[in-house]
Amino acid sequence: MPHSIIYLLLCASLCASAAETRPASSDDAYQQKLDEVKKKAPAGFTVLVEKPFVVAGNDEPGQVRQFASGTVRWSVQKLKAAYFEKDPAEIITVWLFKDKASYERYTRELFDDRPDTPFGYYSEKHSALIMNISTGGGTLVHEIVHPYMHANFPACPAWFNEGMGSLYEQSSERQGGIVGLTNWRLAGLQKAIRDGKVPDFKKLTGTSDGEFYNEDRACA
Ligand SMILES: [Zn+2]
Repeated sequence: MPHSIIYLLLCASLCASAAETRPASSDDAYQQKLDEVKKKAPAGFTVLVEKPFVVAGNDEPGQVRQFASGTVRWSVQKLKAAYFEKDPAEIITVWLFKDKASYERYTRELFDDRPDTPFGYYSEKHSALIMNISTGGGTLVHEIVHPYMHANFPACPAWFNEGMGSLYEQSSERQGGIVGLTNWRLAGLQKAIRDGKVPDFKKLTGTSDGEFYNEDRACA
């Protein structure tokens, strides 16, 4: 059975309480959010709407547009077709910082955050996906999964949510659908299995969100 099907079956059984139906955001709401992000963004940022997100980045404008119309649009369309009925209730901003220096600087200056991951993260508090995009688009797809899980399966536990994100960290298209590929996590997982450091499935699936995040910071 393909991994994605196993994930889907697990999620259907575990995350039964779906969010209430909410209306899609209006054009006015997008314009308002766009203005708000333009005001917040430092000079030199490109800010644009890529529904259901607003995207802001300090790379070359063409690069920012490329990530928006490529990675963001493609993964949203494919993930929605596979799993998700609803867009996130709020308009989330995708911040694409072009390198390590600007990621570290602006996570502090704009959000007062001190991220413990060099790649990027989803901040529910700031309604933002905050990325060091120089590490590649994989983490961006991973983080896009999280607000969609939140909107569609709010009771989903962290271990499953992170599994979903990690599954699509490296992804491709097969017969029009998104498929997760083997990624950089495999080597670490195999080593942890060899070293006897991986909890059994029963223990993993019994972890609370707090236990999961405290015990495994490799999952951003
Ligand atoms: Zn994650």
